Amino acid sequence: MSDVFSSVVPVVDPTSNLVVVYWDLYPGAIARDADPDFYVEVARSVDATWTRLNPTNPVNGVCQYVDDDEELKGCKWQVLFRIVMDLNSVETASDPVGMYEAGLRQERLLLAELERRAYVGLNSSGVHGYFLHKKDFGTACSCVDPDLDTPGIPNCPDCFGTGLEGGYYLKVESAARLLEPGTFSRKETGMLGVEASDDIALEALCHPRVFPDDVWVSRDSGKMYRIGNQTQISAAFRDMPILLQMKATLLDPSDIMYTFDLSDYGIPLADNDQILLTEDDEEIT
Ligand SMILES: [Zn+2]
Repeated sequence: MSDVFSSVVPVVDPTSNLVVVYWDLYPGAIARDADPDFYVEVARSVDATWTRLNPTNPVNGVCQYVDDDEELKGCKWQVLFRIVMDLNSVETASDPVGMYEAGLRQERLLLAELERRAYVGLNSSGVHGYFLHKKDFGTACSCVDPDLDTPGIPNCPDCFGTGLEGGYYLKVESAARLLEPGTFSRKETGMLGVEASDDIALEALCHPRVFPDDVWVSRDSGKMYRIGNQTQISAAFRDMPILLQMKATLLDPSDIMYTFDLSDYGIPLADNDQILLTEDDEEIT
């Protein structure tokens, strides 16, 4: 990838069958208060002319694009994708990436089917919810002192301690399995032996990619879990991961994240008293 883009991942969403492209920037690749526009481009080959899928409606503030153009449906396996970042009228393109790069057609179809089954399995035996992705760049929050370059006030209701307005953006809906503590066997061993841990693990699809400090919110209970650093692949096809297990911690009822407004998504603001009192999320039957 280029100096700016750490990854560009085009995938087929198992529910809608639409192409979704996710990308990430290297930490520090652009200023935290930069506000770039992103365009998604496709081409038949590296040397061919690139066609911009969203010439008049650039992606702004997020790093994902859903293509609802019927035309792409038939040729998604054959085209290359790239992302062009427009920052103050200077354009930077990512390296071109194909869908399931270098895979054979049979393998691609098999992988798509395995992903679809994993998705169906999660939706039937997991808990419905959403991932919130912590912003890496955007407009600085008013709580940030420009002279001190502080990351923000921890309990700021506008940026949730991130220093960036809004703090998080909503990623796609994603069911998850809540796994028992001990999923991650590597425990800290100190002078007093093995330390007990309240951490659990969440199992979810690999796309969209989830990062440490992202938050998963249960649609039914409103409980929020912060994703930790430890992850492990729990299902894969060849070297393509399908399901990922991530260490996660239930946020304390006093956490400012519970004021994050999810009403647009049918999730009421959590009732703080209920978060610790209610039973664990019911598995969907
Ligand atoms: Zn703030």
